[in-house]
Amino acid sequence: EAILEVSGLTKIYPDGTLAVDDIDFSVQDGDFCVIIGPSGCGKSTTLHSLVGKVEVTEGTVELDGEDITDAKTHDRDIGLVFQDFQLFPHLNVEENIRYGLERLELPSSEIDQRVDEIIETMKLSGNRDRDPTELSAGQKQRVALARSLVLEPKLLLLDEPLGDMDYKLQKHMEEELLRIHREFDTTFVYVTHDQTQAMRLADQVVVMNDGKVEQAESVNRTYNSP
Ligand code: ADP
Ligand code: ADP
Repeated sequence: EAILEVSGLTKIYPDGTLAVDDIDFSVQDGDFCVIIGPSGCGKSTTLHSLVGKVEVTEGTVELDGEDITDAKTHDRDIGLVFQDFQLFPHLNVEENIRYGLERLELPSSEIDQRVDEIIETMKLSGNRDRDPTELSAGQKQRVALARSLVLEPKLLLLDEPLGDMDYKLQKHMEEELLRIHREFDTTFVYVTHDQTQAMRLADQVVVMNDGKVEQAESVNRTYNSP
């Protein structure tokens, strides 16, 4: 069953740049979808269209059968993890994770429980009172993931999340992402220009080039668990 259905998506920026040119693809519920392609091919524009940060010129985006093309970002039930994390520097780790939850009007006991669970799962127990500025890149990444996943989005988008990390940390975080993807039973859409990384992570690869989708197919991931 498709959780995400993108049809005829087109984005022309105000300066006339055709960034995304009439693309179609769908993502199955629970898949780890990786969008790959060279710099400037339209990956970020596509991702930002899904999350409502870019106003699409044409086409539709359906999430779980619902047309969300014109929905507000915070009404979309889609999480986004940025390459540079974008944590709130004036809030500690736990407060960063709580921030979005507290706007959902849940009972405080449920908020506490969800925060405790995600801190455990993301191995952040020793860092809950620390400021993001004190954390390593890998730890910041975990906080960014926790902050999104605690809201239990239908879809989690990841924009080159390992792009700025050295090779060893990258490999480690790849394993972590696969573990998290399994444990949360959620759908990931992950953007990278790194083809070998895509093959290690993906159930499905969407190949973009020059604003178009050249190929969209299921693959067998090549990752060898230790
Ligand atoms: P990628 O993420 O694959 O590097 P982008 O989606 O960032 O690709 O960019 C696709 C094309 O759109 C590029 O030619 C880029 O320069 C252009 N572009 C991106 N953002 C804007 C913008 N805000 N205004 C004009 N052109 C843009
Ligand atoms: P990415 O490929 O990850 O989007 P970029 O460095 O290409 O990173 O873009 C960073 C920011 O600049 C984005 O917000 C993007 O929309 C904007 N941008 C990229 N290309 C252009 C462009 N040609 N004109 C205007 N803004 C652009």
